[in-house]
Amino acid sequence: MSRSVRTRPDGSGRGLSEAYDTALLDLDGVVYAGGNAIAHAVDSLATAGSGGMHLAYVTNNALRTPDAVAAHLTELGIPTGADDVITSAQAVARLIAEQVPSGSRVLVIGGDGLRVALRERGLVPVESAEDDPAAVVQGFGGPDLPWGRFAEACYAIARGVPWYASNTDLTIPGARGIAPGNGAAVEVVRIATGAEPQVAGKPLPPMHRETILRTGAKRPLVVGDRLDTDIEGAFNGDVDSLLVLTGVTDGAQLLAAPPQHRPTYVDADLRGLLTGQPEVTGDEDGGFRCGGWTASAGGERLELEGDGEALDGLRALCAAAWTAGGENACALDPGKALARLGL
Ligand SMILES: [Mg+2]
Repeated sequence: MSRSVRTRPDGSGRGLSEAYDTALLDLDGVVYAGGNAIAHAVDSLATAGSGGMHLAYVTNNALRTPDAVAAHLTELGIPTGADDVITSAQAVARLIAEQVPSGSRVLVIGGDGLRVALRERGLVPVESAEDDPAAVVQGFGGPDLPWGRFAEACYAIARGVPWYASNTDLTIPGARGIAPGNGAAVEVVRIATGAEPQVAGKPLPPMHRETILRTGAKRPLVVGDRLDTDIEGAFNGDVDSLLVLTGVTDGAQLLAAPPQHRPTYVDADLRGLLTGQPEVTGDEDGGFRCGGWTASAGGERLELEGDGEALDGLRALCAAAWTAGGENACALDPGKALARLGL
């Protein structure tokens, strides 16, 4: 690793919406959950946007078109144009277009998001392995994707047709629980063929490249709730990131994050875009201070003293845990310290 290992969150004297020109926002767990807006998302985004920050939405879900995603956001009270939505379908379509002749047929195992993105790149979506495809692309197809679609993919891949996947998220959280995502569908084809797809979605570079190409961002801030997609994608793209705790990541996972999963900043929700970020400072005894808290690494667990804002305590704990972990995940027990913060 050429970069230095991050051992604490950064501070920022300015509000993040002023310090960065573009927010690259994940959707599920950041802006909405189960179709409804997350608390403080609508107001925070309106304020950040009216202050001049460009807001773009970046999703690994290839099922819906940018038009459909933009309409959903607008309905939630976040006015959004299709140009400000970037999907893994667009990223994989560009990847395919760079590797097959213009006008090629592409066998689609997935939804409309993929078909629209392929046409945008001058490729022709087809439905059967008998249609002489130059590529196979697999993206989330929703609950009604017939099993026979996987067979079409396998027939084409067995003939040596190159295979692509929009993303490999194994699961999709929904109102009734955890459902299989596109990564699970990709596993079905992988097991049957023994082949390996080229993948575009977060945390891989094709997705980050797509967002930069489409937004023209000069100083982007990735905003996400997931360490192994959003934050690792920012790490791979060498840009800064803000983790919000409104989605799948809890305090214990953050403290145990290996270097590529450590965000630049952490905040409770999207109000974090509007404020500066407090500095975490080290003291002479090997402790780390933020706000009224001091965190340190004990023999077997993380220790926390003081009081104040819970988020400041978490930031101090991040410094203690990431410093103790170094290039690895911190193995110290965070349970008691996090309980003090109610996290
Ligand atoms: Mg998310």
